[in-house]
Amino acid sequence: MPKDYFAQLSDQKSPPTYNFFDGEKWTASTSGKTVDVTSPINGNIIGRIQLVTFSEIDRAIMKARQAQKNWQAIPMIQRGKILHLAADWIRHHEYYLTTLLIKEIGKTTAEAKDEILRSADMIDYFANEGLNLRGEELSGEVFPGYDQTKMAIIERVPLGVILAIAPFNYPVNLSVSKITPALITGNSIVFKPPTQGAISSLYLTEIFRIAGVPDGTIVTLTGGGSDIGDYLCTHPQVDMVTFTGSSLVGKHIAEKIGMIPILFECGGNNPAIILPDADMEATAAEIVKGAFSYSGQRCTAIKYVLGLDPTIDKVLPKVVERTKELIKMGDPRIPENNLGPVISDAAADEIEKRILLAKAQEARIVYGGKREGKYIEPTILDNVRPSMEIIHTETFGPVVSFVRIKSIDEALTIINDSSYGLQASIFTSDEGAGINLAKKINVGTVQINSKPQRGPDHFPFLGIKGSGAGVQGVRYTLEAMTRLKPIVLNKPQ
Ligand code: NAP
Repeated sequence: MPKDYFAQLSDQKSPPTYNFFDGEKWTASTSGKTVDVTSPINGNIIGRIQLVTFSEIDRAIMKARQAQKNWQAIPMIQRGKILHLAADWIRHHEYYLTTLLIKEIGKTTAEAKDEILRSADMIDYFANEGLNLRGEELSGEVFPGYDQTKMAIIERVPLGVILAIAPFNYPVNLSVSKITPALITGNSIVFKPPTQGAISSLYLTEIFRIAGVPDGTIVTLTGGGSDIGDYLCTHPQVDMVTFTGSSLVGKHIAEKIGMIPILFECGGNNPAIILPDADMEATAAEIVKGAFSYSGQRCTAIKYVLGLDPTIDKVLPKVVERTKELIKMGDPRIPENNLGPVISDAAADEIEKRILLAKAQEARIVYGGKREGKYIEPTILDNVRPSMEIIHTETFGPVVSFVRIKSIDEALTIINDSSYGLQASIFTSDEGAGINLAKKINVGTVQINSKPQRGPDHFPFLGIKGSGAGVQGVRYTLEAMTRLKPIVLNKPQ
């Protein structure tokens, strides 16, 4: 059935070559060049995507610019109805999209299904919350020296054309988290999907189109980030860039794009501090989930655990026990498996290299540590020091490192000196102590007695330092994708 709806996306061969969406039609690039998308599960090519040319980018962005004016003029309640329809289409095709996501990025069945359904819910929430966006009215009389003759009518208006760049690890959900708020607030979207995850993103684009998003309001341009990314980001017709990806690429883009608004979610590298009074059983379970879900390829994964010697001696065996009991590595198409491959051979090489380097620098491999192809065993290291590469720079794989500290102040120094600042977790049975400690930690969000996580999606979500710029979370994203426009009325005296 999905084939009928989605036939125009590709040439229907095996493996299919996919078209890009120029705003009006699905078409092959005149470049004649494509990029392979291979499944992390078995290395098979599952499709090819177009490498678009710079002139195709120019034309598509001009379409988005023109379409935006008409889209903005459509009442928000109607824009919202189109988006709700897109959410329903996602639910309707949940099984198909889940299966595709498993093949394309190697998520396990439960993780992929969760991403798809959560995306549909997120669209509905954004579409509803958009209706609550408000401007305001201010009188001059409340500022010294002014009176009632001056009044500001302050509207919220769209920014214009928003460039959305998504990462491979949530190609549907993190695309939805950009496309939907942009559309409900009257912007048009230039969407650059991740190469790995592009196929799912093309289906997502088509769903928005079928739901009724008018021509030109969304354009989806494919090709490697290193080929087309700079051109897209520095395009003079782009009014805002919303990006999720590594800190390295985020900084590269930020240095290039000049004076337009940005909303960036970058690398995580999140620590967890365990206080001596923590419930060690519950803490161990959270650490296992936090470290190994989607093979540790989450910006919100726990990457290192800080504790005093007696605390680590208590919790570490429980973490090992829980890992043995809960984590089953294998082909993610088999529902019983909950730890699949990492995204590429290059990623697996890098993770393996860092594990071996840590070992050579006297870290102890307590569990796992081996690699077979793109599968990395869930790996637990002890005696890791903050200077070791395994935790100094985000390791995007199923590895968690234990760092033995002499005092809680030392933990604070390690976290606050890090170049990352997405989230941190504190485990304690004393909520007051947790809150006091949280206030001293310089990261976007502190979780008490939970692994780091994004969501619920209406909570603010942000990274500081190398982990991002700007604030996401439903209302906050809507605000970020609009600007205030005061119109000042000057009445006669
Ligand atoms: P990545 O390599 O930085 O790529 C992210 C996106 O940027 C992809 O679409 C990529 O395209 C594109 N890109 C690459 N070079 C570009 C350039 N010069 N200009 C514009 N775009 C460019 O990241 P990833 O490996 O996909 O994702 C993993 C990273 O994302 C991790 O660091 C993770 O922590 C982070 N992340 C952060 C959050 C958060 O909320 N903070 C959430 C999820 C992921 P190609 O795929 O075609 O190269």
